[in-house]
This record gives sequence, structure tokens and C-alpha cells, in this order.
Amino acid sequence: MSRKMKAAQISKAGGDWELIERAIPEPGAGQVRVKVEACGICHSDALVKEGLWPGLQYPRVPGHEIAGRIDALGDNVTPWQKGQRVGVGWHGGHCFVCEQCRRGDFAMCVNRKVTGIDFDGGYADHVIVPAATLAAIPDELPAEEAGPFMCAGVTVFNALRNSGARAGDVVAVHGIGGLGHLGVQYARQMGFETVAINRGNDKEPLARQLGAHHYIDATAMDVVAELQKLGGASVILATAPNAAAISALVDGLSPDGKLLVPAAPAEPLTINVFSLIMKRSSVAGWYSGTAKDSQDTLEFSALSGVHPMIEKYSLDQVAEGYEQMHSGRVRFRVVLTMA
Ligand SMILES: [Zn+2]
Ligand SMILES: [Zn+2]
Repeated sequence: MSRKMKAAQISKAGGDWELIERAIPEPGAGQVRVKVEACGICHSDALVKEGLWPGLQYPRVPGHEIAGRIDALGDNVTPWQKGQRVGVGWHGGHCFVCEQCRRGDFAMCVNRKVTGIDFDGGYADHVIVPAATLAAIPDELPAEEAGPFMCAGVTVFNALRNSGARAGDVVAVHGIGGLGHLGVQYARQMGFETVAINRGNDKEPLARQLGAHHYIDATAMDVVAELQKLGGASVILATAPNAAAISALVDGLSPDGKLLVPAAPAEPLTINVFSLIMKRSSVAGWYSGTAKDSQDTLEFSALSGVHPMIEKYSLDQVAEGYEQMHSGRVRFRVVLTMA
């Protein structure tokens, strides 16, 4: 008699959420089975829902902000233990043999996989994942907080810690949403002079509470002039999906400053290259991180008191939770919690 698991899947591009039951699968060699306790809903899950990822195979269970416990180990899995608390994020594994892997740069593996896109993810009570995707969760972090750190968290944490900014430098976070509310906390905890930029002033008290030293209301103030009053930003982390607003930010950089873009706006950027040249500044993308980067994110968050602000939904409420995430009403991440 095989036990059953529950999952929420999408069967075709643009399809509706389907709650299904299936036999709980066994992990193969190099894999583990995780009993999912929580899974964040990320904006990128629209890649599955709307069929925007080239070559995606349906049906697919999305979800790459997974937190739970190891439930079963396949062969050749070390050093993980059954019962251990683990997170699984966007990075769904790497090949170990391509040029980038041979250099140890697993995030840039040419054969890299994405959790919930190349294989079924965490909108389920059980999930099978490669052991290379696992991050250990510190005891003090609840599962519903660990989930969002596995994509939103690691993306901004890793972008900031690899940005070249040093303690005391001016670092601005543009957009106080799912990524930005974490970005402000990390920037502050990493020792940067932290600037929050958002439209309107309704998020100013929250941004200051999260650690922002300065707040710029983009509807009432000249963002570039305000940043230049501070000497220009060494790094601007652009998290609001607005190409025109992001493009204008390059003039707010300091010499050698960097405009970092970890999430893609729908439209291309239109950059004033003269401004880049005169300040030797740059615009760069940022790609998530490996499982170890995720574990660093979890540990730093627990150590420094960084918390995601979340709304919880049950797996049965997946359609509602997903709608809420995409409505823009959510403050700031939606997390599915499993029974
Ligand atoms: Zn994500
Ligand atoms: Zn590789």
C-alpha cells in the first residue's frame, strides 16, 4: 500500500492550478526526498504558470523556495541525514563536468537545472531533489521564514555581498517589495549606509524600521540629486520592475559605482552610456547562487535578525495565494504551508 502525496501542478501554459494526489516517489542515487513544510511563491513561478520558460515540460509542480526535512536518502548521499532540516532554492543542481563547474563556479554551470522548472518543485508535501541543492536550516529559523530566503533572500544577499561595496559605502535599494524589503535589511546588516527608494511615502516608516538610514520618495524627490547629495551610490540594487525608473538610476552612482539588477523588468533598459563612461560605472545582472550561498543567507539572516515579511496560505489555497502574490497587494512574500 503506497502512501500518497499532494501537490499543486500546472498542466499547460496559462492553465489553472490543479490539486493532485500521487504516490510518494523514492529518491534515486544522489537524490533526497524532502517532506516540505513551507514553500514560498516567487514571481518567477509565473514562468511555469504562463509557459514563459523555453522547453518547459508539463505537467509541472512549481516552487523553488522550499523548507522542510529530509524524509528519505537515495544511494551515495553524504553528509546529509534523515530528519535534517533543509532548504532548496532556485539552483536545482549542476553537472560538475562543464568548464564552469571545473572552475568551481556551479551557479554558471552550462547544464544547470532550476527547481520547479526542470523538475517538480515545492508546491507539494514531498519533493525529490538532487543532494547538491540542499542548504541546512539553522534551528532558530522557522520553515515559513526559511522558504523565502531560498530565492528572494539569497538573490539579494548574494548580489550585495559580491557587489564590491565596503562597510560605510552608500548602497541604495530601489523598490521596497519582496526583494527590496530584504535588500534594505541586508544592506544595513552588512554595514552599508543604506538608502531606500520607493514611490510615495507610505513605505517610509517601514523602510526605516528595516534599517534604511535614508528614504527617497521617487514621486516627490529627484532621486539622482538625492543620491548625489550623499556622494553617489557605490551600489544600487534595482528591484522594482520598471525599466525607465531603473535606467535613470545610473546618474545616481558614484565613480566606479554599480547598478545591480537581480530581477528582469519586462522592457529593455535605456542607459545613458556617457554617464557610465564619465564615472567608469557599470550595469550588471545578478544570478541567484548555489545551495551553499543559500545556506550562508540562512545563517546570516539568523545571526543578524533579518526576517522576511510573509502571508501564509495552505496548499489548498494555492490559487488565492498566487493571485495575492501577483496582485501587488502582498507585503511582501506569500508562503504556502503544508499540513
Ligand atoms: Zn524565485
Ligand atoms: Zn556544469
